[in-house]
Amino acid sequence: MLARWVYAFVAAAIMTQPVFRFAPSPNGHLHLGHALSALLNFDMARAASGRFLLRIEDIDATRCRPEFEEAIVEDLTWLGLEWEQPVRRQSAHFGEYHAALDRLDARRLTFPAFESRAEIARMVADRDVRERWPRDPDGVPVYPGAARQMRHDERESRIANGEPYAIRLDMERALEWTGPLTWTETGAGPQGETGELMADPVAWGDVIVGRKETPTSYHLSVVLDDALQGVTHVVRGQDLFWATSVHRLLQSLLDLPAPAYHHHRLMLDNDGRKLSKSTLATGLRELRAAGASPADIRRLVGLAA
Ligand code: GLU
Repeated sequence: MLARWVYAFVAAAIMTQPVFRFAPSPNGHLHLGHALSALLNFDMARAASGRFLLRIEDIDATRCRPEFEEAIVEDLTWLGLEWEQPVRRQSAHFGEYHAALDRLDARRLTFPAFESRAEIARMVADRDVRERWPRDPDGVPVYPGAARQMRHDERESRIANGEPYAIRLDMERALEWTGPLTWTETGAGPQGETGELMADPVAWGDVIVGRKETPTSYHLSVVLDDALQGVTHVVRGQDLFWATSVHRLLQSLLDLPAPAYHHHRLMLDNDGRKLSKSTLATGLRELRAAGASPADIRRLVGLAA
């Protein structure tokens, strides 16, 4: 009797054990901004007796390279972080992302859009003349095309002809399906937004969720992986604050649980710009080569006095 009670208690504790993850893309070397994110996740997992995962977000085969992944592992190990094995590598899971796209497609929530980047740029330039065409929170023009209304036979024949396309979410239909969505923010957005927040996916328009040649997107793979890995707390930079609205929408459409979100301050360069992978002065390997210790890195990112 007692044994069963203890078993149930332990099982409940494991099920509710917080799960954190650091999810870099191996398209360059880590800098102080990544160090802040990784250390925050690791520290928060420790403080909550939770689990800490590393996930490699390598869906972009043209930019991601194995040597960057090796360097990430080396830099994080040097920083003193430990994570569970095996590490999930997104490029090994295209089948799962494809299946999720199929589920959205079955409900007619997506459509293929055949316009090239150049065509979209031209359409936006034309519209900008009359009135500035809306941009999404990343500054990318909202989809201006009308592929949503394309006749079924035309769509099928263009696909059969091998024309490239992006798979876009039909935002209007998606919103009809879900209604208003919220998320719990324990960090803060760029304007100090915190607490229970309303998601605003409309601002993203018919956002891309997949491509013909890569049957996924950052948004789709991140929400699927967070759910599949049981991530309970997403701790990441404020630059991804607005993307959370799309993530909440996809979670709702795909019946996935919503983790809590914690967006943290960004590390800025001397000109107040977000650090980029090419800024050598703040690269972890450069700092290490110059004699910095892991404790120095903690100080540099403001996590230690
Ligand atoms: N892979 C993303 C990046 O490197 C982070 C994804 C996330 O934390 O949601 O910016």
